[in-house]
Amino acid sequence: MQLRIGNGYDIHRLVPGRALILGGERLQHPEGLGLDGHSDADVLVHALMDALLGALSLGDIGLHFPPDDERWRGADSLVLLEQVAALVRREGWQVVNVDSVVVAERPKLKPHVPAMRAAIATRLGVAPEQVGVKATTNEQLGPTGREEGIACHAVALLMQP
Ligand code: MG
Repeated sequence: MQLRIGNGYDIHRLVPGRALILGGERLQHPEGLGLDGHSDADVLVHALMDALLGALSLGDIGLHFPPDDERWRGADSLVLLEQVAALVRREGWQVVNVDSVVVAERPKLKPHVPAMRAAIATRLGVAPEQVGVKATTNEQLGPTGREEGIACHAVALLMQP
């Protein structure tokens, strides 16, 4: 059996007038802020896709879904995740597990974590137990601490039987 590990990171700006979508869930920020980006700016799903692609040295989401391509304007990142999962399968690999940590001061993510895990697991074709989603604040330090953005770190482990 062969194993591969990949890591991913992403950050998007918090701005007024945008939706706040994390792990496919639409959340409500207390100041009405959302994440800016070409797609739906789902930073959690973006970090996961980069971890999956990184595990197989297949580049990054910028390569597969270029931000200057109009096809991906406002794209549902879960649909892109499904495409990355299909690519992983085509290459002959299976997802062992993925794990992630979202760095956000607000809103509280914990109540939404089960729904995020379920949505991600469905698109990956794995069980929710194989999908880790954790949340932390940055203790008001740095850009995420000042709520200038929300960031996410992710890892993916793949196996080839
Ligand atoms: Mg991104």
